[in-house]
Amino acid sequence: MFSVKFKTTEELPEPSPRLIDQVIGQDEAVRIVLSAVKNKRNVILLGDPGVGKSMIVKAVGEILQDIVDFKPYYVIAKPNLKNMERPIVEVIDGEYKEEKIEIPKVDFKSPNTFYLILVMIAAILLSEYLLRFVPEKYLLAAISITSLIVLIFGFVIILSAIIGSSRSGMGNTYSPADLKPVVLYECKKMPLVRASAYNVTRLLGDVKHCPLGGRPPLGTPPHKRIILGAIHEAHRGILYVDEIKTMPLEVQDYILTALQDKKLPISGRNPNSSGATVETNPIPCDFILIMSGNMDDVYNLRAPLLDRIDYKIVLRNKMDNTLENRNKLLQFIVQEIKNNNLNHLTYEACCEVVRVAQHLAGSKDKLTLRLRLLANILKMANDLAMGKEIEEILGNFDGKDYKPLTGKGKVLIEAKHIREVFERGIYSMEKQVAINYIKNFKRYKLITPNDSPKIGVIYGLAVLGEGGIGDVTKIIVQILDSKNPATHLLNISGDIAKHSITLASALSKKLIANHKLPLPKKDIDLTNKEIYIQFSQSYSKIDGDSATAAVCLAILSALLEIPLKQDFAITGSLDLSGNVLAVGGINEKIEAAKRYGFKRVIIPESNMIDVIEGEGIEIIPVKTLDEIIPLVFEM
Ligand code: ADP
Repeated sequence: MFSVKFKTTEELPEPSPRLIDQVIGQDEAVRIVLSAVKNKRNVILLGDPGVGKSMIVKAVGEILQDIVDFKPYYVIAKPNLKNMERPIVEVIDGEYKEEKIEIPKVDFKSPNTFYLILVMIAAILLSEYLLRFVPEKYLLAAISITSLIVLIFGFVIILSAIIGSSRSGMGNTYSPADLKPVVLYECKKMPLVRASAYNVTRLLGDVKHCPLGGRPPLGTPPHKRIILGAIHEAHRGILYVDEIKTMPLEVQDYILTALQDKKLPISGRNPNSSGATVETNPIPCDFILIMSGNMDDVYNLRAPLLDRIDYKIVLRNKMDNTLENRNKLLQFIVQEIKNNNLNHLTYEACCEVVRVAQHLAGSKDKLTLRLRLLANILKMANDLAMGKEIEEILGNFDGKDYKPLTGKGKVLIEAKHIREVFERGIYSMEKQVAINYIKNFKRYKLITPNDSPKIGVIYGLAVLGEGGIGDVTKIIVQILDSKNPATHLLNISGDIAKHSITLASALSKKLIANHKLPLPKKDIDLTNKEIYIQFSQSYSKIDGDSATAAVCLAILSALLEIPLKQDFAITGSLDLSGNVLAVGGINEKIEAAKRYGFKRVIIPESNMIDVIEGEGIEIIPVKTLDEIIPLVFEM
């Protein structure tokens, strides 16, 4: 199975600390991304979830950070004394040192403060005069009038200060500390900045809200409320944007502008915030863009943005099942144990992981590269292996002395733990739904394997849900004499299924008309036959062409009135010449035939390379319809 012999993974060497050495099965993608980034090209990585898109970007960033010649810089925000709502952001080369920053020179003497002081002095003099010269009986009235005048003056001065500051964007009462430039960001080595496509403020930056509108003396001046975007932080480095499906169109336009101009201003993003009136100068943002998503997500991107992406790399989701790749899978297991603090696996458990990787790839010849899924299965198997410890905790748990599980126990992950996780399907919602459906529905299902031969009745095979579970479908064909020679398909609505049934119907009629079948000849007037095809008790969504051969045989049986044996289930697509073509989910389908107790299962010969476990049932590979006929008709 592997090129090393071991009892448990504890005996295997530690994984490499370099992330680039930990990426498995994506060598070509790694090489392309490395050279693309070195040459300052933009890249998009497409592929199934969990095949290592983020890991590759991180790994490439990690090694480039050490080898690329990088000029450190820092970013400061300064007040714009002519217009405070237009703060100035500058990128300065070199390492930040406080004394390097100049404080703008400004005359902080405020005329408003001056008038306020003047009014206060006048009020003091007036009260002095009142106390001395006004007769005692008018004293109270005089003091009240004077305080009122002072109050009105003060109010007018404060109001004029506020209006003045909001008009000019700057009051005259900011303190020197308020006007000090701020350092927004320091960058000492090549940045690799990650942001999700939907997070607009994170990507493009923002200006914080100030409840006082940023007005002096208490408000925070605009240049102190600027938040740099990921595109700015990625200046002279890499910007990694994942989840591209969620990227709003307007953000795509901004990113496009940033890519073209290599600078973009920051403005407040929330129209209800006082930050909305603030906008900076265009801030340098010269970055390499790497985006990632699933294959279909790419259609969410606007053509001009997609055009700016030089490399469009599709990651693999399977690798060949070779000794070299099984060794890599072993390396992956050791990595996951180390990175997630898992228990060690026995040799047999590692073999079981390989089997699961084959199943997830849908073929004996392949191993899945959806390694996040495999990592999750390992984590769940680890938890199952720790189950005894959990029982102990539950047993000792009296509500007072709760001790949470700590990291590793002393257990080993065994093959049975991996098998249990896989078979119970606790790593996949679809699989559990399918398992529950089959469990609940099986007792009502009229599947009678190995029954006596029947006309027009055959058992097909299907897979429920993506990566789900196989099931047996009873297909019944009935013929009616009618003036309308049509074929009716009951309870299957998928387009591919409909087309495949049309093909099966046409092929069976052609074979009967040409008398080219290895079956007793019979003259049938096909112009007055109405064919009804029922996928009995099929309520879930079944689509695809894997029942074409089954339907064709059932139509032949019904038209020729020759019974079909009932000890087999069959899967296979057909072409118009009667060749049997490969189908998907072959292992799940064989499993289903076994589970229902069929003696034989007929499958396309081209699918034989995919079969992982052939025991417990006779598997009959076939290439043509002619080969199937003697096997299935009771003659
Ligand atoms: P994606 O970005 O394609 O969804 P990630 O790079 O986030 O996938 O992978 C998630 C986890 O799955 C990784 O942290 C790692 O544990 C495992 N993994 C996925 N792909 C690989 C790979 N090619 N080699 C090694 N580990 C992988």
